Amino acid sequence: MNSPTPDDSTTGLGTALAAPLQPRPRRTLLQRWRGAWRRWSLWTALVGLVVSMLATLVWLAGRYEESQVQTQLERDAADAVVDIRVSLSRTLQNLQALHANDPGELAWEVGAADLLRNHRELIRIEWRDTSLRVRDHQQSPYRPLAWDRRLRESGQSDAAIACANARRLSSPAYSSSYFQPHGDGLGSEMMDLCLPLTTGGKVTGFVVATFSLREILLNLVAPNLTRRQEASFIEPDGTRLAVLGAARKGSRMFTSQHLLDMPGSTLVLRMDTWHAAPSLFPNVLTALVTAMSIALVTVMAVLVRDNRRRLRAERDLADALAFRKAMEDSLVTGLRARDLQGRITYVNPAFCAMVGFSAAELLGQSVTAPYWPPELVDEYRARQAVRLSGGEVPPREGFESVFMRKDGTRFPVLIIEAPLINAQGQHTGWMSAFLDISEQRRIEELSRASQERLQATARLATVGEMASLLSHELNQPLAAISSYATGSINLLEPASSTAAADAGDTASAPTTTAAPSAHDVEGVRMALTQIARQAERAGKVIKSVHDFVRRRDQARESLPAQQLLDAILPLVSLQARKLRVRVQTHVESGLPPVLCDRTMVEQVLLNLARNAMQAMDHPDIHQRVLDIRVLKTATGQRTGWIKFTVTDLGTGIDSDVAAKLFTPFYTTRSEGMGLGLSMCRTVIEQHGGFLGFAANEPRGTVFTFTLPVATPPAQSP
Ligand code: ADP
Repeated sequence: MNSPTPDDSTTGLGTALAAPLQPRPRRTLLQRWRGAWRRWSLWTALVGLVVSMLATLVWLAGRYEESQVQTQLERDAADAVVDIRVSLSRTLQNLQALHANDPGELAWEVGAADLLRNHRELIRIEWRDTSLRVRDHQQSPYRPLAWDRRLRESGQSDAAIACANARRLSSPAYSSSYFQPHGDGLGSEMMDLCLPLTTGGKVTGFVVATFSLREILLNLVAPNLTRRQEASFIEPDGTRLAVLGAARKGSRMFTSQHLLDMPGSTLVLRMDTWHAAPSLFPNVLTALVTAMSIALVTVMAVLVRDNRRRLRAERDLADALAFRKAMEDSLVTGLRARDLQGRITYVNPAFCAMVGFSAAELLGQSVTAPYWPPELVDEYRARQAVRLSGGEVPPREGFESVFMRKDGTRFPVLIIEAPLINAQGQHTGWMSAFLDISEQRRIEELSRASQERLQATARLATVGEMASLLSHELNQPLAAISSYATGSINLLEPASSTAAADAGDTASAPTTTAAPSAHDVEGVRMALTQIARQAERAGKVIKSVHDFVRRRDQARESLPAQQLLDAILPLVSLQARKLRVRVQTHVESGLPPVLCDRTMVEQVLLNLARNAMQAMDHPDIHQRVLDIRVLKTATGQRTGWIKFTVTDLGTGIDSDVAAKLFTPFYTTRSEGMGLGLSMCRTVIEQHGGFLGFAANEPRGTVFTFTLPVATPPAQSP
């Protein structure tokens, strides 16, 4: 049944699908290669930049660390120079203080000894006269050395040079450093300070103080400056004079040199320090920068991996879309999606081809779709309203409807609908699939027509088979008619003839009178009555055949089963008489009428009866009974149905024949066409009934079929 429905709606996918899918243009190999090269070069540049930036950061951090160490060292060296300078000037003051108030020799010795005790850098103090001869001297209690007086007083000695300077400058002067042996195979670098003693502007003598360079480093430089680094005095040419060293730790050396400028002499103070190298993380800053760099590189690696995954997902998605697009384009089934408001959100090419409208003309349409036939619009709208309100669930097997093409032609469609549920589980509309079933309908119509022609052929074939029976059956009434006609003619002959004529079983003796007697007239009348009866009988035979062949009324009608039997019995009897078969029928009392196509069902009955009689046409079968019954179906089974049985006592059907029994053109008889049973089953199935057979006891076969009653109990008010 056609239930036109329009309100096939759709959905969320709809939104995604609303924009018609554009097929991605296929990229050439060159374009793909260029794309890949650009992508990779960008990534390489990014990685290169990040790596070089990180390397620069680490290098700068290292440099910063180095500069820190160097700066600290410079500061320490400067501090040390200041310390030395301050201490030397204090010592100078002490030496000057030694000669304040013109001390006697004893007092001088006490003062000098005291000075030597307090200043460990002082090794020896000499009081010399103006000709630089030593008047008195004192030695350091910490380092008593043997001095060669002659060498000391020599005019070439360092002390003499310093004193010459002092005399010239009238101020203290230092000598350059010199090596002083200790007498034990060792020695150390010394330096003399010559202080001129003046009285009234006249030089009266000199004080020569001898300093040990190493003791200067040891005692005049703050210990914290020499604890972690090595301090030394060097000559401007780099010769090391005295060293105060810390243990060398580390392989990177930092050096700072500062001049110790003294009157008459210049020394260079050099400070060295060593740092562990290479040190990857020399301080917190470098470690921090490195940690951040590692984090940055890690993040970049994660990004690269993520990007690769995203690209792969994009590629998969594009493939899936292309696959889906190809699938949709190749489908012959029309697809349409609608949202909950009934708006069309998606149509596939097959649907557009089906209705003749383009996707642009269909998308967004809601109130009245352009493919609804105008005469059905009201009905479709009402149904759509019900569907959208959720009042009706579409049947799973689909329903039929009628659509209109753009050119106005109507065509039947089968619609299968399903709700569209989005990823969140929400019902967002309806997805519908459409099948154009016009071709199916045309084939059904063709099949029905050919079925009809087949049935007509089968009927004609039946009649052909019955032709001899007909001639035999018609022979009797025709012979009788002929006899009666001859008799009548004889009665009407002139009376001259006296010969008695035997006119068959109705012979009469004509008289010789000129006019027929009343008796003769009576005889002729009787003969004519018989002629008329026999002619009618022949006419009936012919009519029954004519009716059977010609009747084309297809309509189903309600009629009692007895009428169906009555219609075929004359024809059945023809064959029964010839084959000496006794025909018995029984119609159960009180049966309701059946609803059927009369012509078709009569033919079924006739075919079954004929097959049954032919099955009994066997020399060994003497008891030949054809039994046709009409009964109610057993209670509980198919109520509302009437059962017909056609039973014979014939040869029965063996299993080989049974397997092919309903195959068209299968027959075991030389003159058979093999169409009878296949046609019977088609007819009964068209009525919704069932045709089957079973072996009969003790012999023969029972064919059974069912037909619906005209007013089924379920439908009675
Ligand atoms: P046809 O009558 O032209 O042969 P049918 O389709 O009516 O074609 O029958 C097919 C075959 O089925 C018959 O040739 C016959 O062998 C077998 N058949 C049909 N009815 C009976 C029956 N009642 N008893 C035995 N065989 C039967």
